[in-house]
Amino acid sequence: MFNCILIENTDGYTAKMAQMDESQLPDHNVTVQIDYSTLNYKDGLAITGKGPVVRSFPMIPGIDFAGTVTESSSEHYKVGDKVILNGWSVGEKYWGGLSQVAKVKDSWLTRLPAGLTTKQAMMIGTAGYTAMLAVQALLKQGITKESGKVLVTGASGGVGSFAVSLLAKLGFDVIASTGRTLDTAYLIDTLGAKEIIDRSELSAPGKPLTKERWAAAIDCVGSHTLAGVCAGTQYGGVVAACGLAQGMDFNGTVAPFILRGVSLIGIDSVMCPHAVRQAAWESLAELADVHVLAEISRVISLEEAIPAAQRLLDGKIRGRVVVDVNN
Ligand code: NDP
Repeated sequence: MFNCILIENTDGYTAKMAQMDESQLPDHNVTVQIDYSTLNYKDGLAITGKGPVVRSFPMIPGIDFAGTVTESSSEHYKVGDKVILNGWSVGEKYWGGLSQVAKVKDSWLTRLPAGLTTKQAMMIGTAGYTAMLAVQALLKQGITKESGKVLVTGASGGVGSFAVSLLAKLGFDVIASTGRTLDTAYLIDTLGAKEIIDRSELSAPGKPLTKERWAAAIDCVGSHTLAGVCAGTQYGGVVAACGLAQGMDFNGTVAPFILRGVSLIGIDSVMCPHAVRQAAWESLAELADVHVLAEISRVISLEEAIPAAQRLLDGKIRGRVVVDVNN
């Protein structure tokens, strides 16, 4: 038997603690004893039912986890291997990581990079991995420290915190856009941002083009904010869009693209090809600062993840929430 969070949708939408038998697990080729999972925005939507994330019921949520292989008929993984899983619709369509055990396809797994523990890997989690994909996308487009400042929106959130910290570690001057302007110590002293702007500067409908303020941006927010981010990007700049915390809409104009040559790059962590995700994790193992990881993360129990899901959606949680599934 193992413990998990189970979402059902028979007599209304519910998420509660459950005990399941391993024989109920799906017929995939690798079984993983999970050490840690995390609480991401998508998990918040899944647990509360506030967004159409779950596509099959009953569902064990949890879009990521790290643990140890306990059974395998895969040629790629053997018993004892330490692994990470992010995405691949796990926690949405397939049973996920807010559980003590998962049975998954070998092709969904990434090897835990040397130098990281399973706990550190989940302090990073999908948020850190997505932030790394966004940083790598900017670098691939030729953005350097010399290009100018880089803006991060939703900067106190999971993805935003990592984006700020990774960019600062790479030597970029980071502008953090946040609704928590009183909490500058976190963004400046802990994460390394150079400047803070109030997110209200970007979150309302604005002009097609505004003053050129940043060379590049990582946007976790979408909607009017993404339009405002593009409008304020300097000539030839790059915007990596990875989130929708404000909304899924994008009410921008083409002006930044056709008048300033701005590029808008999409970031998807879920179906990202294996080689790209392994490279992102290897870079994270090199760049992630264990002291920062400890400062931006807090560990909660499986049961505590249920009420925490609503707080996450309400924007009341800062940084990363790691779930100790064995507690
Ligand atoms: P968090 O909830 O941890 O962070 C979101 C942050 O956005 C908040 O902390 C807040 O930052 C800001 N925010 C919240 N609501 C609003 C609002 N109404 N208007 C403007 N800003 C707002 O979420 P994550 O960091 O886990 O995820 C961020 C986004 O990225 C989500 O939309 C998520 O779905 C998406 N995502 C996408 C992935 C991909 O593959 N593309 C992978 C992972 C996440 P502050 O308080 O600093 O203003």
